[in-house]
Amino acid sequence: MAINVKDLDRDFKYQVMREPGGEYLSRCFACGTCTASCPVREIDERFNPRKIIRMTLLGMKKEVIESEFVWLCTACYMCQERCPQDVKITDLMNAIKNVAVKEGFIHPSYTAQVEALKNFSRLYEVGEFENKKRQKIGLPALDTETKKEFVQVIDDYVSGLLKGGEE
Ligand code: SF4
Ligand code: SF4
Repeated sequence: MAINVKDLDRDFKYQVMREPGGEYLSRCFACGTCTASCPVREIDERFNPRKIIRMTLLGMKKEVIESEFVWLCTACYMCQERCPQDVKITDLMNAIKNVAVKEGFIHPSYTAQVEALKNFSRLYEVGEFENKKRQKIGLPALDTETKKEFVQVIDDYVSGLLKGGEE
């Protein structure tokens, strides 16, 4: 990938470092231990925590926050446990995600989860079928009604997040 210096955002790394979890970004000396430890990397070679960190340090804001790769981190903490520089990479990935959200980039999988919460008050719909299965193993039936108070909490949370992005 060719880098055009004019497109780099020098403030991006500081923006990430101001987020909780992003404080130790500049400690990275690019050893690659995080990438070698990452189980997501094993499945998809395009996911590369070391590369995401280098791109962030360089100021490749658009490429980082608009890419879906940062969202692939499963927060398993394998990299964080092994990093010789204590960069706290898992927390850093969350810091980058926070910046992405504030800039209006939210992965569709997260918006789908919010929609499910609003529609079903859970991450998936519970209907007669699920309740019959619960009954079979002696569990009480779950309420299938969407709770208005719950929808309000989600709406307040989402609008609070969006307001937080207006810096
Ligand atoms: S393991 Fe730590 S120091 Fe090494 S590349 Fe990853 S973040 Fe940087
Ligand atoms: S926390 Fe994220 S980046 Fe680190 S090893 Fe796990 S999946 Fe990979």
